Amino acid sequence: MTTELPKTMKAVYIEKTGGTEVLQYKEDVPVPEVKEGEVLVKNEFIGVNYIDTYYRTGVYPLPHTPYILGRDAAGTIAALGPNTPSDLPLGARVAYMGQAAYAEYTAVPAQNTVTLPDGITNKIAAAALLQALTALTLIREAHPVQPGDWVLVTAAAGGVGLWLCQLLKAVGARTIAAASSPEKRELAKQNGAEVVVEYHEENREKFTKEVVDITGGEGVAVVFDSVGKETFDSCLATVKRKGSMVSFGNASGPVTGFALGRLAAKNVKLLRPALFNYIYTREDVLKYTSELWKFIEKDGLNVAIHEVYPLKDIVRATEDIQSRKTTGKLLLTP
Ligand code: NDP
Repeated sequence: MTTELPKTMKAVYIEKTGGTEVLQYKEDVPVPEVKEGEVLVKNEFIGVNYIDTYYRTGVYPLPHTPYILGRDAAGTIAALGPNTPSDLPLGARVAYMGQAAYAEYTAVPAQNTVTLPDGITNKIAAAALLQALTALTLIREAHPVQPGDWVLVTAAAGGVGLWLCQLLKAVGARTIAAASSPEKRELAKQNGAEVVVEYHEENREKFTKEVVDITGGEGVAVVFDSVGKETFDSCLATVKRKGSMVSFGNASGPVTGFALGRLAAKNVKLLRPALFNYIYTREDVLKYTSELWKFIEKDGLNVAIHEVYPLKDIVRATEDIQSRKTTGKLLLTP
């Protein structure tokens, strides 16, 4: 089933990995064909996520070339492939997680697509989906956080970081938020962090000591670290006995060469999770998205949007997220 569709569309793709110069904005890219189990979504708001930088620069391998970047968006269903669920009708407002979102139209697996309740606009959904679900699944599954737990969050004023601060507050945890500027630390506090700390790039031991002191010397129940290479060691040192070190990103580069024996010092659990394994089935996707919409609608969680960029300004948006100057979510609109 389909509505009247154009033959070509706007999209951003790359033919090779590299700097922002490899990002190609085109207005004559063929509209994708919708296949078995897929829906074609006309995107209204598209998420910019740090993972797009990993694919562009080659930290993660490209599945194929040319490759359209982008992992999540919200819009309207414009065509249905065979065998899609009846709860995804033509014309429905939806959000999805998938690939090739930096485009006017994206063919996505129905499995990762959800309809939106009336109170959730396309803009809110695109701003929340991937980053908020990352935060939600981290605190539910990577380390099930308990009320009263001390939790350390790095990059706390970023997209995922602000969701972590808010959700941790909502479940009664006590967040220590690390961010690189006073403005970012203030924002983390406004979003639920109990205490804020500097990273002290020139003196990581000072950072570790400050965090451990805040917990009364015991250490934190869990660290959610997305900075990776530069902060891994100083974060691991803040974890209490039998706590968890959750390393879920590589903004400063991947963590390599870790000696497993180091965990024995405090019987620490080490995890390197990916969102897609927590939302593997449609039941998982529906369960976590409905929980997320409730948090936004009923608990009044703040959906922080840094800026909405025209799709053609992809280079500026990409440079901005890499610059460490942004807070909250960056969105694109075709
Ligand atoms: P952010 O908005 O958080 O931007 C990245 C932040 O990382 C910056 O704002 C900056 O905050 C911090 N940072 C620290 N060191 C560097 C550096 N050397 N270069 C650039 N940034 C740095 O991005 P997202 O919210 O999109 O993603 C946050 C993290 O979560 C990423 O690492 C991403 O890969 C990860 N992620 C992982 C997922 C998973 O499934 N495992 C899913 C989604 C996201 P500051 O200036 O305060 O240090």
